[in-house]
Amino acid sequence: MLSKHALKAAAVSPWLAEDQAYQRHHMACPVCIAAGKGHGQRCAEGAALWVAYAESEAAGVSHAA
Ligand SMILES: [Zn+2]
Repeated sequence: MLSKHALKAAAVSPWLAEDQAYQRHHMACPVCIAAGKGHGQRCAEGAALWVAYAESEAAGVSHAA
């Protein structure tokens, strides 16, 4: 039988892991923070995380504003 925790985990959206990885990097990386404000490009790691985030979001969710 499923525990409450397992049910809750199953309900998490598939893009959440990519979203969290991107947000975690973006919060800590001055290069990506500046890029997010329109100053320059994301670093290589941040760009890769951004692509994974954008692709997973486009594939699974229709919450785009
Ligand atoms: Zn970065």
